[in-house]
Amino acid sequence: MKIAFIGLGNMGGPMALNLHRAKHTVNSFDVSETAVTRWRNEGLKIAGSAAESVFGAEVVITMLPASQHVDQLFFGGGAAVGLLDSIDAGALVIDCSTIASSTSKKLSEAAAKRNIAVLDAPVSGGTTGAVAATLTFMVGGAVQDLERARPLLEHMGKNIFHAGAAGAGQTAKICNNMLLAILMIGTSEALALGVANGLDPVVLSEIMKRSSGGNWALEKYNPMPGVLDNTPASRAYQGGFGTDLMVKDLSLAQDNATGNHVGTPLGGLARSLYAAHSLNGAGALDFSSIFKMFHK
Ligand code: NAD
Repeated sequence: MKIAFIGLGNMGGPMALNLHRAKHTVNSFDVSETAVTRWRNEGLKIAGSAAESVFGAEVVITMLPASQHVDQLFFGGGAAVGLLDSIDAGALVIDCSTIASSTSKKLSEAAAKRNIAVLDAPVSGGTTGAVAATLTFMVGGAVQDLERARPLLEHMGKNIFHAGAAGAGQTAKICNNMLLAILMIGTSEALALGVANGLDPVVLSEIMKRSSGGNWALEKYNPMPGVLDNTPASRAYQGGFGTDLMVKDLSLAQDNATGNHVGTPLGGLARSLYAAHSLNGAGALDFSSIFKMFHK
């Protein structure tokens, strides 16, 4: 298939590479020279602009930081022309970014007027999952469009869920990430408490993993440096899922909760703690660095 892939960051780069390795024709683009150089060296073809990347594409995949990036890319703004005008009628857009479900719905409605199908397909599984093609996709949109996308999603992920109509994938994603943030803070507190009492963090982690406190943050993404190899914590919290991206997701969850009159008190507290952590200079570090709030 002819695929345009836009946004070659921590997640998008390895996802695009997996499609390229599966013998699809991938024409990619990113505004960052660093990202472009890195992924060109890995073998990806890089277009000169987003509009150039979508020329003749049957599928356009985007993996951008936040709502405003997706909005500006597709609809334009200022001097920039919206990408929707450059995409062929009949094409399928798969937006894997985590953004507001209202932005996903707006994109889906505008694209439908040009006979372009859109899926919101945010992911879970982190950068390790992006590299290993084991991501979970939470998809919003029409079932028949998901079936068109499925063979491609299977080259990037292992679990593919249809969450509902346009925007539903985003709603599932913010519920998941709100829970993840709460689990990461709880895991950090518990580990820091044990270590302050002289416990070995590896032994304590093993005990909690096999007890009722076991959870994904503890088992797969341990926030204490040195407990697990190959986690952001063990490489000075570099790469991974940035604190500022977690603040964004928790803000999306709170906006949604407010709009729907739903109480999410721990989600609200988690947002405040992550926002304070970002203000203390940790915005670009992996979100598991919240551990540093509890442990020197
Ligand atoms: P990132 O910041 O590493 O990458 C985003 C990339 O988009 C950057 O390279 C940036 O230059 C590029 N970009 C921004 N605007 C652009 C534009 N107009 N045109 C082309 N490129 C543009 O972010 P990431 O960690 O890859 O995350 C991407 C999305 O995936 C976010 O919405 C995030 O919340 C979500 N997500 C991330 C993780 C993770 O573990 N990192 C996990 C699940 C979901």
